Order: sequence, then C-alpha cells, then structure tokens
Amino acid sequence: MRLTSRQCQRRGFAPPRHIFDVGQGKMKYHVLIVGRLLRWHSSPADGGRYDMAHGCTRCGAGAVRIDPLFVSPSTCKTGVAATYKLQVVVSKDVFDRLSVAGVTCMRQLVDKKTKEPVEFWSLEPEAMLPPWSKESKGFQVESQCLQCHRDGFFNTPKTSLDLVYAAMPAVDVLATWEHFGISRLGTPFEESLFAIPRLIVSDRMRDILSGFKGVEFSEVQTMEPIQPSVPTR
Ligand SMILES: [Zn+2]
Repeated sequence: MRLTSRQCQRRGFAPPRHIFDVGQGKMKYHVLIVGRLLRWHSSPADGGRYDMAHGCTRCGAGAVRIDPLFVSPSTCKTGVAATYKLQVVVSKDVFDRLSVAGVTCMRQLVDKKTKEPVEFWSLEPEAMLPPWSKESKGFQVESQCLQCHRDGFFNTPKTSLDLVYAAMPAVDVLATWEHFGISRLGTPFEESLFAIPRLIVSDRMRDILSGFKGVEFSEVQTMEPIQPSVPTR
C-alpha cells in the first residue's frame, strides 16, 4: 500500500521527502544486496561526526553520520559497491543514471585528506521503516544489545533475506529499523563501531541498479495489497 505523508507519520514512518507522481503505477520494494566490497570501513574511526539523538545510549545503534563519507578515491570502484560496513557507494555513471530518473537520495563523498568532493556518492535512506513483521525470514540474531535490540542482525549463509512489512512509504531508498553487525559505543568515540541498516529500494532504483555487476535483489512482501497512489498536494 502506498502511503501519503500524513499516513506515514500516523504509522510511525519518518515522513518521506519525496512522493512519487500519481499514476506511476504499482510499486514494489526490494532488499538491495551488493556483492562487490571496497577495502575500507565507513566508521567513526575516520573522525566523521555522528548525530546520536536517535542512537541507543548503550550501544549507539541508530547513530546517523552527519559528515559525508571520507575516502581515498583509489579505493573506490566503478559501478555499485559497498564498504566493509556495507555502506553502498556508486560511481558517477550510476549517479548520473539515477539523477536522470529523478532519484535524489545520494550524497557525494569527500577525499579523506583534502575534504574535497570526489566522483563517488553514497546511497542515503530517505526514511526509516518500523521493525519488520515477524513473518520475515533469512536472518539470525547474535550478541544483540539488551537495551535496544536493534543491532546483532546477521545474514544466514546461502539464504536470502525475505522481509515482510505491513506497508511501505513511497520513497526510493529506505532503511530497515534492524541494524546488521554489532554496535559498540567506544571511548574515545573514534573507537565506536556501528551496525548499519539494510537498504530497501524502489522499483525504479532496482531497474537502474540491476544492470551493474554484483547487484542483486530480494523482493519485499507487503501484507496489504499495493495500490495506486493518491494525490498528496
Ligand atoms: Zn543498543
């Protein structure tokens, strides 16, 4: 079911910044799986600032990076790839194709030495989903934070992540409430490690990204039938 901004707020979603045009047709959503890894972490160790307003006070899960990712451009790859922390990074040709399609949720990376923009972008979720439905499968939980229960999710080997939600807001890139990996708040802060959410993408994101090496998708199931959108403004 496609939701308006007001419906999103009532259901606890962050309101989307972008609503699809009316009449764009039925839309499905897909877990984005990126197989090509970049040999660098995207973590507080690089000195980047994080907003802890919605982060767990015990483990830090839910921390949101304020700074763009700091990177050595030579460690990036053309196409679609992910850091060791599974932050998805795209090169300029992908950025251009997504931009032409109207996708806006990309953030330009900066050189870690000069802090000048480089020709790579990270995919940034536009909204956070509520916890997935208990019908979801294909994951395991280990060493989870006892306070927030948001980290500690892991893939099950050779099993696809089959997620089920009651409804989805109409945006291009969503983050799961659940975070993959282990979160630990460190002292000093640079020693912190944050688990990160999986990204769920729209049909039009899938259509563009599916042409790139190492990219796969697992369709998200919604319990309510997907319906054409209604005008929101
Ligand atoms: Zn926690």
